[in-house]
Amino acid sequence: MTEKQNRKAVEIPDFLTVRALADLMEVSPIQVIKELMDNGILANINQQIDYETAAIVAEEMGFETRPKAPPAVEEEIPMIPQPLKERIYEGEAPEDLEPRPPVVTMLGHVDHGKTTLLDVIRHTNVVAGEAGGITQHIGAYQLEHRGKKITFLDTPGHEAFTAMRARGAQGADIAILVVAADDGVMPQTQEAIDHARAARVPIVVALNKMDKANANPERVKQQLADVGLQIEEWGGQTICVPVSAREKTGIDDLLDNILAVAELAELKANPNRSAMGTVIEGELDKSRGSTATLLVQNGTLRLGDALLIEDLSGRVRAMFNERGEQVRKATPSTPVVVLGLSNVPHPGDTFKVVENEKTARAMAARRAEEKEKAAIQPARVLSLDEILDQIRAGQVKELNLILKADVRGTIEPIVDSLEKLGDEDLKVNILHQGAGNISESDAMLAVASRAIIIGFNVKVDPAASRTAEAEGVDIRLYDIIYELIDDVDRALKGLLEPVYKDVVSGHAEVRAVFTIPRVGKIAGVYVADGHVARNSLARIGRNDQLVYDGRVSSLKRFTEDVREVREGFECGVGLEGFKDFEEGDIIELYKKERES
Ligand code: GDP
Repeated sequence: MTEKQNRKAVEIPDFLTVRALADLMEVSPIQVIKELMDNGILANINQQIDYETAAIVAEEMGFETRPKAPPAVEEEIPMIPQPLKERIYEGEAPEDLEPRPPVVTMLGHVDHGKTTLLDVIRHTNVVAGEAGGITQHIGAYQLEHRGKKITFLDTPGHEAFTAMRARGAQGADIAILVVAADDGVMPQTQEAIDHARAARVPIVVALNKMDKANANPERVKQQLADVGLQIEEWGGQTICVPVSAREKTGIDDLLDNILAVAELAELKANPNRSAMGTVIEGELDKSRGSTATLLVQNGTLRLGDALLIEDLSGRVRAMFNERGEQVRKATPSTPVVVLGLSNVPHPGDTFKVVENEKTARAMAARRAEEKEKAAIQPARVLSLDEILDQIRAGQVKELNLILKADVRGTIEPIVDSLEKLGDEDLKVNILHQGAGNISESDAMLAVASRAIIIGFNVKVDPAASRTAEAEGVDIRLYDIIYELIDDVDRALKGLLEPVYKDVVSGHAEVRAVFTIPRVGKIAGVYVADGHVARNSLARIGRNDQLVYDGRVSSLKRFTEDVREVREGFECGVGLEGFKDFEEGDIIELYKKERES
């Protein structure tokens, strides 16, 4: 891209941030970070660089440079959706947060080389001094590249990634999408993209098998663009790195780019607190008992810490890294094998350190009890209705859908119609669409992203059916497009915030005011028109001022409680939280009626 650019001029101040420089040149900050890397400078997006450095980078990127007197204005532009940073670290004071290594997962179509690539990365980057050291498979490993750490999750595939999310955990910060350059975008490539997007995790494409004679990177880039992944060199934001896991080429470049994306995401955690994180693997070891690989996501895990993992408890009796070495502590983004648990936890379970073992045991017991109770009740419902409730409560602004149809050809018209439904406040968001039966991975995605699955002329795989039933995922099957669209439309309409209008139901004139022990002030009224009903809404205006707006709390005829008193009768009226009746007040009775 740089070559194609005419030599545009930029004015560079004495000092500016990487972001500001990128803005000046109207290029992605990633390109600037990479260019700096090539010049041996490891900078993050907010780092200040001086004129000299900036000028070198800019010249190399095809710009003419001139010094500029006043400093450039900085702007906060979120370049990449920042993953669930907020969720784990919410409540942390910004000044307590420190940078942490990225956690990376490998996604892609079967046989495109995920496993090979993970192995190559692991073995070519053994931490210095450990050359030849055997790393054990513990579900994750950490390596160092250019003096910076990167954590890789060792179980490739979006199924594992989404299964973890379905359990409420988000392990990865960055997804490497492995695409074989000779095979291109395949159904699982598309699925992986959708799953990563649903999780708001940035994607770096590793274009693998570049050693093959029939590798066709340009074709793959076009295919990626067709499914909405715009490659950086084509003006998009997705980095695409050609590699060959077999020939071990491009690996450094891939790792450089992971670091660049990580810098942009500004991943942080507070190392100075008790640890919390996610279970990556659990195992029952004959000699060591229950063990688990834990990924610390916030805080620091230490030897002796008391652990609560869902409804299990334990104490960290020993901790090992992926090389089998004992460690005494694990900081954010570090995976460790932990010994000393009461039972084997599941991948995706979340853990936290609590005060002491006794507390851990008590909390675990309580959770186990709750779980048992929940098991007797019907499955947790993720039905359309429940999701609509959440939307109504303002917690959700999108209706997430997963759409499967028998053939590609029918998907497009359905998507077109669905996307026209909804409005500004409430959108239809199609997380994933594809041809074929509803699979377990679809069901998992639905759980993880609170989505409804819609099938058109397709069946539900037995495994998907089991997951959906257990988790209460709503699967709706149709064979007539019109019915499908209509159903979703009606659902959306039903949940659009209803508009209410006030309808006046009567007026009552206050003729006397009484004090009744334990009840308070009661107005003796004459119902001038309409009627007064118990629980009816009521308001009082005086001199053009609203002095009360609330609800009828008591209604009596003589000493009897009554439901309703009609026009022309007298009665006693109490208003919720009001005692300042004055003779001559007019109480207006009204109700709210739904307009739409
Ligand atoms: P996964 O299913 O995505 O984990 O794919 P694997 O890592 O198991 O690789 C599938 C096949 O592709 C294996 O036979 C690998 O040896 C082969 N493979 C992986 N990477 C490369 C590569 O860069 N070049 C070539 N020629 N073959 C590769």
